[in-house]
Amino acid sequence: MRYITVDLYRDFQCSAHACPNTCCARWDVFIDEETHEKMVEKEEELGVPAKDWLFKKDGYTFVKLDQERCPMLDEQNLCRVVLKLGPQYLSQTCKLYPRIFKAYGDTMEIHLNMSCPEVVLRLMEKESVEFDFAEDDEAAAEEPNKELYLFESEVRASMVEVIQDMPGISLNTRLFAAFTILEEAIAMCESDQMDTDGFRMKVNAYVQATVLAAIDGQVTGAVDEEKRYQFLQRILAIAGRYREQDRFFELVQHAAAYFSQGYSDRYLSDLKRFREEVLKTYDGFYTNYWVYRIFSDTLSLPEYEKAKEKFIYIAVEFALFQMIAMVSFAEGRFTQEEYACIISCLSRLTEHNPRFYKDLISEIHKNNLANTAGLLLLTIV
Ligand code: SF4
Repeated sequence: MRYITVDLYRDFQCSAHACPNTCCARWDVFIDEETHEKMVEKEEELGVPAKDWLFKKDGYTFVKLDQERCPMLDEQNLCRVVLKLGPQYLSQTCKLYPRIFKAYGDTMEIHLNMSCPEVVLRLMEKESVEFDFAEDDEAAAEEPNKELYLFESEVRASMVEVIQDMPGISLNTRLFAAFTILEEAIAMCESDQMDTDGFRMKVNAYVQATVLAAIDGQVTGAVDEEKRYQFLQRILAIAGRYREQDRFFELVQHAAAYFSQGYSDRYLSDLKRFREEVLKTYDGFYTNYWVYRIFSDTLSLPEYEKAKEKFIYIAVEFALFQMIAMVSFAEGRFTQEEYACIISCLSRLTEHNPRFYKDLISEIHKNNLANTAGLLLLTIV
């Protein structure tokens, strides 16, 4: 078996009681049968009968949340199962989160979920995202779509390279180039020409500093800020309908209210200050964020054309968290921890709530945004 992981995975450490958005709340936590049995066996040591905090639904066991929190979470946000029994008693769900495993035949890809704020904070601190490759003797099934997987992996590697290895070019242009690469690959795939060497040659001809510098000139300032404002107003109003963590909900409400006041000089001046003071500081993080999301979210076997939609969806999330953060900044309460928390809450909303995802995808379709113009409208840097 081959393994591909992001380097963050190697030394990931949960921040436990210090976490600003604990994963032990507002979530349906599935408990595997073995852990369920252990919780029944150890209920005296734990001090809570298993039936008081675990319940069965459709043959599966889940945690009964108490005011949206796992009842095993104490006042300091520490887990009573770990404190009283030890970490070896955690369920598979609790042990594994935020790790995500995706098998493609004989390749296992592993990453960490961005809904964990610790992952976001680590990405903010890292100079760049690296990938680890390993192999062992574990037998694995053959990937029925191996040719497609290898082609898509090559495409993804090219997209990551253009974002990571062209530091002199603006992020907008690097994203524009990555999206163009993806469009080219999907066209090749749709016409049944998944020729990896041919694809590489096309990419090498396109991804050159002079070509990208020329695109940079055209892309800079190409977006109509008022049109962008109107779109942001609509997606913030959608996000405002969903309640995630209380603090996040409050920040989204503030942002939605701010954006309901209309396009004004105040907005333009807040955006200018936000660009100068925050966006410049987090420039390295944005590169890491996009590399990470492209790695974990744009492989789209077997419906590869959906990868374009996913790319734009990531851009919608990007635009949303930038605007929530901008309003928080304009109101004088922006901090790095809050920024990480906003990003993680937004990811969790996507994971928790298929309707939220569907609403945003429908907005992408309605506004015909799955193209480079749509991407530029959304990447606020
Ligand atoms: S969200 Fe991440 S850091 Fe927070 S408690 Fe869960 S695993 Fe730990």
